[in-house]
Amino acid sequence: MAADEFSLIKRYFSNCGAAGSATLLGVGDDCALLAPPVGEVLAVTTDTLLAGVHFPDNSPARLIAQRALAVNLSDMAAMGATPRWFQLALTMPDADQDWLAGFSAGLDAMARQFNCALVGGDTTRGPLTISITLMGTVPAAQALKRSGAKPGDRIYVTGSLGDGAAGLAALEGKLSASVEDCAYFNDRFWQPQARVAQGLELREFASAAIDISDGLLADLGHITEASEVGALLEVDKLPLSQALHRAAGSKLGLSWALTGGDDYELCFTVPANGLAQCQRLIDTGLLSATPIGQIIDGQGVRCVDEDGQSVAVECSGYKHF
Ligand code: ADP
Ligand code: MG
Repeated sequence: MAADEFSLIKRYFSNCGAAGSATLLGVGDDCALLAPPVGEVLAVTTDTLLAGVHFPDNSPARLIAQRALAVNLSDMAAMGATPRWFQLALTMPDADQDWLAGFSAGLDAMARQFNCALVGGDTTRGPLTISITLMGTVPAAQALKRSGAKPGDRIYVTGSLGDGAAGLAALEGKLSASVEDCAYFNDRFWQPQARVAQGLELREFASAAIDISDGLLADLGHITEASEVGALLEVDKLPLSQALHRAAGSKLGLSWALTGGDDYELCFTVPANGLAQCQRLIDTGLLSATPIGQIIDGQGVRCVDEDGQSVAVECSGYKHF
């Protein structure tokens, strides 16, 4: 690699995030050296963002960086793992210093908020692509897999749903809303709040979890498939924000909540013996979550109204292929 490329890495990426004792050696050598806590296993996830596919071309660099790390943090949250280190594979058309300064500032802020460190990566020239590999740790027996749901478990979701899709629609000029509501949707799209702290709480009592990146129907479908169970989803109970009600109305809002992507909330299941603990966390404000259905024998996700009657919805999350 040319000297100026290394000085670029040194300048923008060598002190990014929160340095912790678990990092023995970070950016600058052939490999990073990491020391996971004794008794925990590594949880590793990668997400790639492509300009023009995952965010509009010419978006602000700071926001792109924050979103790229946030979507990885969301996977870590859904596993009940503590984020610790990440690698950045950055492909960009040129080495624009302003762009790099904004990008590294956004990355640094998000990394510090979640107490993780950039420990290495790769830098290449080409169409703008950001690929982050995030590593965390979790006691093996406490990892929140998709495969643990059992008939009788309650289904919950954190936060509110559909705002990410509204954010994308607003960015693309396809949604008219008040200035305040647009600002809210914009934040929800660009700076999804990865539910890392909640994921750690869930380890105590949840039987399965997933983060909602492709829409609740698709992602809950991953839990039912991995757990070999079915699900009843009470659509009247889905948490929609006031802004979504105002801007999209209940019909489009519901459809975005079910099939829109980009919410990065957690969907999790709780067996009967964990319900009281879950409710205590909700009551004390440590967990913001809403019960939205029930795991049953069978397969697939069936949407029902408050009388238990089936409701037809278009079922599909975002698919790349
Ligand atoms: P090598 O050729 O040995 O793979 P590189 O020249 O690609 O090493 O990278 C030099 C050092 O800079 C390595 O420690 C690598 O992890 C780090 N690095 C390269 N690109 C980035 C990046 N975008 N962010 C963080 N670290 C990076
Ligand atoms: Mg390299």
